[in-house]
This record gives sequence, C-alpha cells and structure tokens, in this order.
Amino acid sequence: MHAILQKVSALTQWTTDSPRPCPLCSGMERKLLFTREQWEIVQCSRCDMVFIGTQFAYDVQAQYHDWADEHAKEFQRRKKRQPVMLFLSRLLRPLRPHTEGRMLSQALRWRRGGKLLDFGCGEGAFIELAAKHFNVTGIELSPRAAQISQQRVRSARIFDGPVTEIAERELPAETFDVVTQFGYIEHEWHPLSGLRAAHRVLKPDGVTVIKTPNYASWNRYIRGTDWCGYHIPGHCNYFTPHTLSELFRKAGFEPLPGLLLDSLPTSDSLWMAARKPA
Ligand SMILES: [Zn+2]
Repeated sequence: MHAILQKVSALTQWTTDSPRPCPLCSGMERKLLFTREQWEIVQCSRCDMVFIGTQFAYDVQAQYHDWADEHAKEFQRRKKRQPVMLFLSRLLRPLRPHTEGRMLSQALRWRRGGKLLDFGCGEGAFIELAAKHFNVTGIELSPRAAQISQQRVRSARIFDGPVTEIAERELPAETFDVVTQFGYIEHEWHPLSGLRAAHRVLKPDGVTVIKTPNYASWNRYIRGTDWCGYHIPGHCNYFTPHTLSELFRKAGFEPLPGLLLDSLPTSDSLWMAARKPA
C-alpha cells in the first residue's frame, strides 16, 4: 500500500509540470480530446499529431512505471468495462498471426542478415527469434525486462536505460543494418530524438521498421476512448500513417512503400519502414 501511495504521489508531482510541446512540430497550440485520471490526450492544432500533453521524466517512468504493471492495470480496466470484447479477443487469439513471427518477417522483408538493433526489446521474445538471422543488440528502459532479455539471448548485447541516451553514449554511428522499433515509439516521450538516434546508428541505406498503434484505425472511431490502442500514460504518442511519415522525414529518413495490408484502417496496428538515404 505504501509503495502504491509513493507511486501516486510521484506521478502527481511529475505531471503538474509545464505542458509538453507537440512531439512532431514542437507547437504549443492544441485541442483537448479527453482526459483520463490526471492525463490529457490532446491533438496539435498545427500538425494533427495526437499525444499526452503533459511532461513526464524518464527516471520517473523507469522507477515508478514498469510497463508490466501498467499492462496488468489496463487488462483489469478492460475486464471491468468490456468483459465480452475481452472474452472474444482472447478466444480469437490462436487465429491471429503470431506477433513475434510477424515482426521478424517485417524485418526480413528489408534485410536478410547483418547487425540488428532493437529499441525497447522488452523481455526479448523478438530478439530471440531475430538472433537466428541477425547479430542482435537490444536497448530496454525497464531493468527487470532487460535482465530477462539478457538471460534469454546470451549472445546479444543488451543495454538497460533510455533508448536515446544509450544509443548516443554507447553505440557508434553507422553500425547497424536494421533498427527495429516494435511497440517503442508510442512510449517514447521524445520520439523525434528516438528516430534521430536510429538514423545516427544506421549505416547509409540502413532500414528502420516500426510497429505502433494505428490512430487512424476504424476501430478507434468505433470504440472511442475504450480503443485498445490507448494505454495511458504508457502510450504517450498516437500516430497515423501521415504523422509517422512526417516524423520519419524530420529525422532524415525516406518512408518506404509498405504493403497495403500494413497500414489499412481496418488494422489496430500500423507497420511502417523507412530508409536512411545512402
Ligand atoms: Zn504539431
């Protein structure tokens, strides 16, 4: 109980900070879409980017907000509000494509081997598969998850800390053939810095591949604030194919033509890839 109270007081302390600039265009003009607890979900008046409009620091995020806790909380919230939807979703799970397998095939579409860096590698399920094709390195904010990753893939180099800081400090420029970001960029409070970090460590002609919730999905319009892409405050950026392409260009990338299936509004997930021009 004491730990929970500490968490709440830390969150309150850190979220009364100044407003967060738009992560895509740095604009400060925004309209409020909705609030949940102390968090405001806003849309930039200049570029339409949707994001959490309050500042939040990395160290607090790592210390007080392990993603494993947050997913359990979101699961309980849905169980209470949408028991039937959740039941159906779990029932249909075996029919859905295996997520890590799909991540691997997305990476293999662009590069068949070489050095792969995974941003936000979590507990290492993806890099374990990827290690059969690539020489893998991972960065993970949660120390607990980073440790599990390292135990799982002993040959990999796993760094524990914020992606942008680790990439800058520990990794030389123009080293990697692929940077994968599956479920990372929606969590990154500085997503442009995240993409710039990917750009710096990639070799010329290297590719970055992203999976993130698709804010342009029809399901989001239908389900409103109960949409499965909303994990608040875990997900602080909500991209459409358009806003993610713009962010790629700002970071110096050239968006690659995806398969039509990967960015349809029928999908809750958005898969996109971009190339660092040679
Ligand atoms: Zn903006």
